[in-house]
Amino acid sequence: MAFAAAIGAMPLDMPESVLVKFTGSLQPGVTLRDVVNAIPYVAIQQGLLTVAKEGKKNVFNGRIMEIEGLPDLKLEQAFELTDATAERSCAGSTIKLSVDTVSEYLRSNVALLKNMIARGYGDARTLARRIRAMEAWLADPQLLEADADADYAAVIEIDLDAITEPIVACPNDPDNVKTLSEVAGDRIDEVFIGSCMTNIGHYRAAANVLKGQGENAARLWVCPPTRMDEEKLKEEGYYAIFEAAGSRMEMPGCSLCMGNQARVEDNTTVFSTSTRNFNNRLGNGAQVYLGSAELAAVCAQLGRIPSKEEYLAIAAEKIDPYGDELYRYLNFDQIEGFEDSGRVVSVEEEARVLAEV
Ligand code: SF4
Repeated sequence: MAFAAAIGAMPLDMPESVLVKFTGSLQPGVTLRDVVNAIPYVAIQQGLLTVAKEGKKNVFNGRIMEIEGLPDLKLEQAFELTDATAERSCAGSTIKLSVDTVSEYLRSNVALLKNMIARGYGDARTLARRIRAMEAWLADPQLLEADADADYAAVIEIDLDAITEPIVACPNDPDNVKTLSEVAGDRIDEVFIGSCMTNIGHYRAAANVLKGQGENAARLWVCPPTRMDEEKLKEEGYYAIFEAAGSRMEMPGCSLCMGNQARVEDNTTVFSTSTRNFNNRLGNGAQVYLGSAELAAVCAQLGRIPSKEEYLAIAAEKIDPYGDELYRYLNFDQIEGFEDSGRVVSVEEEARVLAEV
């Protein structure tokens, strides 16, 4: 502030950026979580990242990760990529999306915030100001773009056509990534499907894997991130599938990922969809693999990590043909009657608050 007062400007040191640029398209059975793990996988191959703690090299450390090449991702999917940049020790991240994608998400968010006013959440005027700002953007949508001649600390190009199987983070370091073929056959005692790395589509896909397969071989914990996801999954019958497989259904939120709520048994081997697998976070002495919800469901069913061939066969039969039905997201503006659900504030009062800002 002293600078600003004295010279009328505020010098800020911006971290450098690392550009991660995707080309090609997702191959059958390969999920966005595998794309998340492909980033350290390719960085290791290029000598920009090492796994060992001693003398560790990490090109991402303290820098911004700028992600390009996946413009048609939904916002819910994009979160999975940007969320995980914390595991790379990034200072922040950006992802280049299309105006259509961002507009779709903001329209949904406007409906959600209006419903929060209707439900009596505070502060109504703060919510109303956010609604107005989003509506103003929607009326004239402009997205920030990187300069065409921008300099980057490094550019990492990832060809999605070359990723033909899942990639998982192995015990106990999110950077310790390997292909499914390299870890196939390892025993899995417990499986966690949950955390802010998941969205409703993951739960539908995981349930489809388990449908009609009897009891899980491993103990499966299922925890949708929000109550809205929980309600929808119950309504659509997916909870019944998880329960029929003997899964433990957790209260929506962070659950095992938080490390101080529920815990896995001591010294077990776990497959988890959560963000990080640091020592003792999910349970004392737990050895934790990190990967997709789709692969997690297969691990729960078998009690071990499947081979690439086993997994791809299950994905081809139970996930890929149903993609449009499974990977749908909650667009609140398209849910009939959503604006009035749980209403405790009158329509007139809501309109008055919105008109005042
Ligand atoms: S504790 Fe919660 S917010 Fe934090 S990484 Fe895990 S799921 Fe996300």
